[in-house]
Amino acid sequence: MDLRFSPAEEAFRRELVAWLSVEVPKVGPPPDKDDWDGRRKFDLAWQRRLFDGGFAGIDWPKDVGGRGASPVEQMIYLSESEKAHAPYVGVNFVGLLHAGPTIATLGTTEQKNRYLPEILMGNEVWCQGFSEPSAGSDLAALETKAIRDGDEYVVSGQKIWTSHAQVADLCELLVRTSKEGPKHKGITWLIMDMRSPGIEVRPLKTIGGSTEFSEVFLNEVRIPIENRVGKENEGWKVAMVTFSFERGTAFLSDLIRSRELLKSLVQLSSIPGKSGKAKWESDALRQQVGLLSGELDGLWSLTRRNISQASKDGVPGIGGSVFKLYYSELRQRISDLAIKVLGQRLMSYDGFGDPVATEHVEAYIYSISMTIAAGTSQVQRNIIAERILGLPKESL
Ligand SMILES: Cc1cc2nc3c(=O)[nH]c(=O)nc-3n(C[C@H](O)[C@H](O)[C@H](O)COP(=O)(O)OP(=O)(O)OC[C@H]3O[C@@H](n4cnc5c(N)ncnc54)[C@H](O)[C@@H]3O)c2cc1C
Repeated sequence: MDLRFSPAEEAFRRELVAWLSVEVPKVGPPPDKDDWDGRRKFDLAWQRRLFDGGFAGIDWPKDVGGRGASPVEQMIYLSESEKAHAPYVGVNFVGLLHAGPTIATLGTTEQKNRYLPEILMGNEVWCQGFSEPSAGSDLAALETKAIRDGDEYVVSGQKIWTSHAQVADLCELLVRTSKEGPKHKGITWLIMDMRSPGIEVRPLKTIGGSTEFSEVFLNEVRIPIENRVGKENEGWKVAMVTFSFERGTAFLSDLIRSRELLKSLVQLSSIPGKSGKAKWESDALRQQVGLLSGELDGLWSLTRRNISQASKDGVPGIGGSVFKLYYSELRQRISDLAIKVLGQRLMSYDGFGDPVATEHVEAYIYSISMTIAAGTSQVQRNIIAERILGLPKESL
């Protein structure tokens, strides 16, 4: 493992910083959080700008329009983008960060040629149809059934918590193709066109007030067999690759954003209160911020270790679970502290002209979901116990 940037990586960083300094100021204000058409347009427009500038899919293969660069350069890209306040990946999250990489790793040549360039060019949005009302942590229990009918699968069932479903063109979908044998051996990974007849999307309102995710009802939806990634009944293996990307590198820009939140918290606590004293004068607060900052540094090193491993293996390793577990809980502790520092300013959340308070309250609400999304903390602990520490398997 080498944690230093090579001369080529440093040159890449300089080129990127110069490009961002020109392009980011051209981006207008982001649309309202529940203006989904606006959000789709905004996020796709930024993706197109990245593509035209040669920065789309930094670590994707060149033959599908990516930059073919190393995961370390991807990390540089995320870090510098955050510093420059470039738009977040937004509704392109699933396509760019896990469906696309899964197809790039396991898809056929036809699938790579058909789907990957469209993601990179900002033409198509993806969503993830994995969870079901009775299959979340125990995902292998999923029941949405797919029956072969000639060259098609006929799919019926229900998905839930499908982020960005209402603006998605395509869905990475897990279906049950067999009930024989162990439950994880009868699952298949399919690409579903969200415009197919038989799909009904019902948005769900989150605690943050936006309709971030939806229930998706599937009623005899026809999916061509050429949309299958991997073999029939071997979708669990494909899903494991999807998860390694989702837990391995997809949270990276979030980690960088946490550092910004911590800085903002320090500024917030440095403002003198009515007594003339600033909260920052408290030793206890400074110690807590110092500790959180050290923990972020530790996670940054862990990330570089995971990325170094991904550079060798092509797929992020099991270290992604360690990162996801620690990071999501750390992020909640940062937000808990911010809420204490905000004090009465909490009351000016949303619509009262206090953008700093709004930013921290939104981050706090979002952080609650972080120990659930992409596999709960309890599930990550099970994975670490069994697959890293070699402890006995959980008896179900
Ligand atoms: C913001 C957000 C976005 C999401 N986006 C998507 C998406 O786009 N697509 C998608 O498919 N899904 C999505 N999800 C769903 C997410 O993957 C599930 O919520 C998650 O896997 C947990 O499943 P569940 O909600 O069914 O909870 P359950 O599995 O019912 O868990 C309930 C509780 O029991 C605990 N528990 C369960 N099993 C065990 C065990 N074996 N050992 C110890 N404790 C256990 C859990 O940790 C949890 O605390 C999203 C979730 C969130 C919060």
